[in-house]
Formats: sequence, C-alpha cells, structure tokens
Amino acid sequence: MHATRSIAVIGAGLAGLSCATALREQGHRVQVFEKSRGVGGRMSTRNFESWACDHGAQYFTARDPSFAQQVDIWLKAGAAALWDAQITSFDAQGWQTIQSSSGRYVGTPSMTAPAKHLARGLEIHFSTTIDQLLRQDQVWKLHCKERGLLETHFDTLVLAIPSKQAEPLVQPHSATLYTRCQDAVMVPSWALMVYANERLPLAFDAAFINQGMFIWLARSSSKPQRQSGEAWLAHATTEWSLAHEHLTKDQAAPLLSAGFEALTGYRPQNIQTHLWRFARLGHASQHGQLFNPDLQLGLCGDWTSTEKVEGAWLSGQALAQDIFRTFDTTST
Ligand SMILES: Cc1cc2nc3c(=O)[nH]c(=O)nc-3n(C[C@H](O)[C@H](O)[C@H](O)COP(=O)(O)OP(=O)(O)OC[C@H]3O[C@@H](n4cnc5c(N)ncnc54)[C@H](O)[C@@H]3O)c2cc1C
Repeated sequence: MHATRSIAVIGAGLAGLSCATALREQGHRVQVFEKSRGVGGRMSTRNFESWACDHGAQYFTARDPSFAQQVDIWLKAGAAALWDAQITSFDAQGWQTIQSSSGRYVGTPSMTAPAKHLARGLEIHFSTTIDQLLRQDQVWKLHCKERGLLETHFDTLVLAIPSKQAEPLVQPHSATLYTRCQDAVMVPSWALMVYANERLPLAFDAAFINQGMFIWLARSSSKPQRQSGEAWLAHATTEWSLAHEHLTKDQAAPLLSAGFEALTGYRPQNIQTHLWRFARLGHASQHGQLFNPDLQLGLCGDWTSTEKVEGAWLSGQALAQDIFRTFDTTST
C-alpha cells in the first residue's frame, strides 16, 4: 500500500490531465494548475459570437491499445465521435481524393470535450500561471504570476507544458532536465479561421496541402455536432509560420486570407487568426517522459513522445508509472 502523496501537475492539456487522472486513481492528492481559463491546451475550439472553429489539433487517431481504450470511454460518454471525413490532397497535379483506412476522431461537441471528460473530479486552479518553482526541505512550493507564492506544498511536481515554457522553470533545479528542454525546439503554426455565409463549392471535408503556404485545410463545420454554418480552418506550414512568427494577428490576416483565396477561389470576409507559438517539435522526439526521482520532478507532454493527442496522453500515463515506481521504493 502506498502512502498518500501530494502532487502538483502544471498544465491542463491532454498530457497533464492524463497524468493527473492516473495519479489520482492511485489515491494520491493531486492539484492541477493551468494558466488559461479552461482545459485542453492545443486541443481546442475557438468560439465566436455566431460560429466556432477547431483551430488547434484537428482530429486524433488511436493506435496504442491503452489509448484506444480511453477513446472508447470518450465515445461511450459522448465526448468524442468518429469524423467520417472525405479527405483529399493538393499538389502540382491538383486535388486528389485519398482513400484512408485510419479512424479519425474528434471531440464532441468541441475539441475540448475529451479534456473536460478527463478533468471531471480533478481539483484544477485556472488562471494560474506558475512562473517559479521553489524546493525547500524536500518539498515543492509554487509561485504564480497572478497571486504570488501559493501556500500548499507538494511531494512531487509534474510539468506538462511545452518544452520552451518548462525551460526557465527547471533551470535552477536540474541541469539535465534543462538541457532536455533546450534540445526539444518547438516551432510555431499560424491558423486561419474563416466563416463563410454560403457553402463553399469544395467537394471535400479536409485536405493535406503539399505545396504553397498551407499544410492543412478543413471544413471545421463538417465535424460531428458542430454548429451549423460554414467554418473553415487552414494551418500554415512550419516554414511560413517561422518566417512570419514576428507578425501581429492584424499583419498576418491579409497574407493568410490571400493564400486562402489563391487555394480555394473564395475571398474570405469574416476571418480570425491565431499563432500557436509552440505548436510542434521541429524534429523527432528522442527521449520519452523525463523524471528525476531524487527531486521528484517530472516532465511530460507531446514533445517527450509523439507530437499528437495520443502521444500527449501516453506521455502522461508513462510519467505516472515512473512516479509510482519511486513511491514503491520509498514507501514503508
Ligand atoms: C496547429 C496544430 C495542429 C495540430 N493537429 C493535430 C492533429 O490533427 N492531431 C493530433 O493528434 N495532434 C495535433 N496537434 C498536436 C496536439 O494538439 C498536441 O500534441 C497535444 O494537444 C499536446 O498536449 P499537451 O498536454 O502535451 O500540451 P498542451 O496542449 O500545450 O497543454 C499544455 C497546457 O499547459 C498550460 N501551461 C503552459 N505553461 C503554463 C504555466 N507556466 N503555468 C500553468 N499552465 C501552463 C497551457 O495553457 C496548456 O493548457 C496539433 C497541434 C497544433 C498546435
């Protein structure tokens, strides 16, 4: 039997929630700290006055059996559904339909639904940006931007945030973890969201774009349980996003809009843009979740695994296992 530990998880994306639920299931006291006002991180839907658009992760697949089981739970709970999308590709030869056998799932009614399902029953502190970690007498204390030093202290600390955001937090405590964060360079992605008053004459739901400034185009409103109307999403390539990372939303908007018109023939009137500053890894991950048992400090997230929803969830589970193993050896 384990002694009950007090554990803080920083970040309420899929990785943090996955780790927090696994730790809580083992009877530990878990608190999650999230800088934004909701869960889901990069798996998210933007809501506007009369429309909505999935502007981060577009869908997820389930190859690992344990993640497939989790997806099954979401499907049964109505938090996810299969997106039976008609997919095409675009290159110098034009548009071509793709026959794909892999099941693509989406959150329902929005991309945040699976995260909300995981979050049920967890103690989550929103609008809490952790900007400093303090280690005193073998316990962790947290400092947050909004409220200063938090009173509670923790035996174990999990950082489930992008590598660049974890970097300054771990630097004073572990040269090894700091180097690992530095090695995992994450690159940006510009997203263009378009709302059209009429249905666009494009005979597909989504497309992999293999030339030009975009990499992905999707009729967001074709996903199950989405609002009626015609919402489209386009993600720019890593190269384009890196070259235009310094632009403001207003500066990027006409460029993205012109690219959308060149690709689809439709001149957008109603658009929104978003820059995902730490969208994905610039290279394949080399390590897996990271844990320092002496410090009781661990890192997880898609950047330690595969840069997908599935990878994020799996990294949280794997870190929870690493943590349990040290509890086995330290509990009496
Ligand atoms: C444009 C784009 C398209 C994508 N498309 C797909 C796709 O089609 N399929 C797929 O499977 N995956 C896709 N992904 C990847 C997928 O979204 C991620 O792999 C996954 O959501 C990452 O989860 P995570 O928990 O590791 O990180 P995140 O989702 O980034 O969660 C980290 C959380 O930590 C919080 N946080 C950060 N710093 C702090 C701090 N100091 N204090 C407190 N909280 C903090 C953040 O607010 C965030 O909520 C895409 C990602 C992007 C950006």
